[in-house]
Amino acid sequence: MAANYDLVVIGGGTAGLVSAAGAASLGARVALVERDRLGGDCLHNGCVPTKALVKSARVAHLVRHSEEYGVRSGGAEVDFPAVMDRMRRVIERAGEQDSPQRFRGLGVDVYLDEARFEAPDLLAVDGRRLQARSAIVATGSHSTTPPIDGIEEAGYVDHVGALALRRLPRSMIVVGSGPIGSEFAQIFSRFGSDVTLVSSSSLPLPKEDPEVGEVLRQVLLADGVTFHGGYRAEKVRMEGTEKVMTVRNEAGHEVEVRGEEILIATGRAPTAGSLALENAGIELEKKGLKVDEYLRTTAPNVYAAGDITGKYLFTHVAEYQGRNALRNALFPVKAKADHRVVPWTTFTDPEVARVGLTEEQARREHDGVKVFRQPFSGVDRAMADGETTGLVKIVTGRRGKILGGHIIGPDAGNLIHETVLAMQKNTPIGTLSTTIHVYPTLAQANQRAADNYYREKLFQERNQRLFSAFFGARHGIDWLRERAHR
Ligand SMILES: Cc1cc2nc3c(=O)[nH]c(=O)nc-3n(C[C@H](O)[C@H](O)[C@H](O)COP(=O)(O)OP(=O)(O)OC[C@H]3O[C@@H](n4cnc5c(N)ncnc54)[C@H](O)[C@@H]3O)c2cc1C
Repeated sequence: MAANYDLVVIGGGTAGLVSAAGAASLGARVALVERDRLGGDCLHNGCVPTKALVKSARVAHLVRHSEEYGVRSGGAEVDFPAVMDRMRRVIERAGEQDSPQRFRGLGVDVYLDEARFEAPDLLAVDGRRLQARSAIVATGSHSTTPPIDGIEEAGYVDHVGALALRRLPRSMIVVGSGPIGSEFAQIFSRFGSDVTLVSSSSLPLPKEDPEVGEVLRQVLLADGVTFHGGYRAEKVRMEGTEKVMTVRNEAGHEVEVRGEEILIATGRAPTAGSLALENAGIELEKKGLKVDEYLRTTAPNVYAAGDITGKYLFTHVAEYQGRNALRNALFPVKAKADHRVVPWTTFTDPEVARVGLTEEQARREHDGVKVFRQPFSGVDRAMADGETTGLVKIVTGRRGKILGGHIIGPDAGNLIHETVLAMQKNTPIGTLSTTIHVYPTLAQANQRAADNYYREKLFQERNQRLFSAFFGARHGIDWLRERAHR
């Protein structure tokens, strides 16, 4: 006989855990099915381990540059196995919240096996059947490998393999300069690998504002990364223990790059292969499950959340969608998922944070677009910290409406939230300028960028005429008063 549930959640990553815990706290009867470990990609192979490595790489970088701060250190020596041990300890600590016992304690039935649809309301799990009033598919995404001749024979790693390395490769070819490729390129370079980054786009982070991408390119070069922008990987061959990759640009120019290891970070695809979606009538598109604005799939009472939707592959979006899908799956009154204001950050050093439209997108879609910038080189706190690379760039439309915010700079991932909140609440850029910011903080970069909005307004010809009329009149009155007293 099938076990009956109000909700069956498939996938125990961020989206699945949030949905299952939320549903249980409301008193629903919930099953959570995970075929591997609770915690998903973010905890085991994504955000958490990479951010631990980013920190170790930053420490190495700071030690190497300590004399700039008047501190002699004798140079940095990276103990790679110790770095990876620390990373695993961080995962373990962060994962304490995600144990099956904890979820069982919350009232969730946890099944550690693969789930397969038999019908929209029936799932096969671990030789049993789960009857589901509603289901949420939260099975995430996985990395893909582009067709490169000889790559399978030569061997390569993706992010999972890179995080399992036991020894630091002397040299590494990173293919793909999106967030994952850019973060790893800098990390391994700072650890001491000779890194070559191959990117089909001319700048790293091709989805970001090119102004930001150019700053990051310079940073990566300064870190010792060799950057081949506008080149595609074509083929690989072995020469002794070295992998030799031929890359080619659009003009047909070929370059050979060499590395002891290859890291492929070119794209992600939805993880849906084992779900037997056809049994439930759930449609899968190239990027993810087909969902409507309520995150409802094409099957009745089956919702989706997280990377599997193919929309914004970030943990915070998985969390948001998990909450939204849970509400819609359990209750008759549905709420639309609001993807109007979605921020994200790439955790290179300096970080790259973004919300809303790039300048180019804004100019395509809106009239009266203006751009306000503040380089960190003009911010006192950044000077004191010796971290003046980068800028804040705010893109506005009519009447100072903020359309996008872009930051490359120290702590950009935190700093972007001021612009995120302003956009969410429809607060115009002028309010960032008139709000008192603590001195000396990096957040003043946001305020200074916004100050430029008023400065520009102030210097408009009409305002200048008004000011000169006002002061002219006042000087006239002063003159008349003086005459009357004489
Ligand atoms: C290297 C890297 C770094 C990243 N860094 C960041 C970052 O700094 N910030 C950020 O916001 N995002 C980051 N991300 C993205 C983030 O990891 C994902 O957006 C997030 O993990 C998505 O969560 P999810 O719940 O949708 O899927 P996942 O976390 O992938 O969870 C899906 C789960 O479903 C399970 N599953 C799949 N099929 C089945 C089945 N048939 N039956 C049962 N279980 C199944 C899987 O085993 C998995 O545990 C990073 C990603 C990578 C790869």
